[in-house]
Amino acid sequence: MNDNQKRLKQRALQAAEEALYKQQYVSPIDVFIGMKLLQPIHVDDWRKGRIPYLERVIQGSLGKITFCMKCFCAWAKEKGLKSSPTVYLARTSGPKRELRFSVSGNFEIEQSYRTHYISPVLSEIKQKKLQEKLDKPPELVVFRTVQDSQCSRCKKELHKGSFLFMEAGQPLCLCCANLSELEYLPRGNAKLTRRVKKDSIKSTVVVEFSRSRKRYERQGILVEQESLRKARQELMIENDDDDPEELC
Ligand SMILES: [Zn+2]
Repeated sequence: MNDNQKRLKQRALQAAEEALYKQQYVSPIDVFIGMKLLQPIHVDDWRKGRIPYLERVIQGSLGKITFCMKCFCAWAKEKGLKSSPTVYLARTSGPKRELRFSVSGNFEIEQSYRTHYISPVLSEIKQKKLQEKLDKPPELVVFRTVQDSQCSRCKKELHKGSFLFMEAGQPLCLCCANLSELEYLPRGNAKLTRRVKKDSIKSTVVVEFSRSRKRYERQGILVEQESLRKARQELMIENDDDDPEELC
């Protein structure tokens, strides 16, 4: 390795380290941008399909570019980063088209450009988050009916707009579902919702079918009355502390 190459390698690895530090992952594009051999605006044009292949807008000879790529890949392996192939699709309204990186279009070269290297630390955090999500018990869902219905157990009429709980495919009124002691809190106050949800041992989300959007949408929650009362009171006290003048 001559002095020029040594300097180039140093620049490439520094750019890689920086990107990894900032994002917890790094791609060849990040490296070339970090080395100032590639302009983000050119990447943007390329992603919009205006530039036939990315190497065309990377400054330097093909030999220089290839050398940087080699240094980068070796560095990533040495660091024990996890390689993750990514699909780069052109941002056009037309049919899906994979973007091309290299002059040659050679499969292996394309593949090395497409590879992101991810910090194993991040994947651990991600894994943990996913696990936490999976470990959490599923949220109970109460439906606000958009048409008249009837409780399958006590036969009580459930008029449009009332709450019902589905159990094994059968509608139940809140009494029969053992949820009648809960109070409805419509969405709109995120702070109050968060606080009361934390405190209320039993709670459900309330959804209603939106005809226009063709999907169920969150309307609010059902929570224990005592928790709701407590949360409201706490927030009132806190707000008073925040703005004492407003009371005058
Ligand atoms: Zn019932």
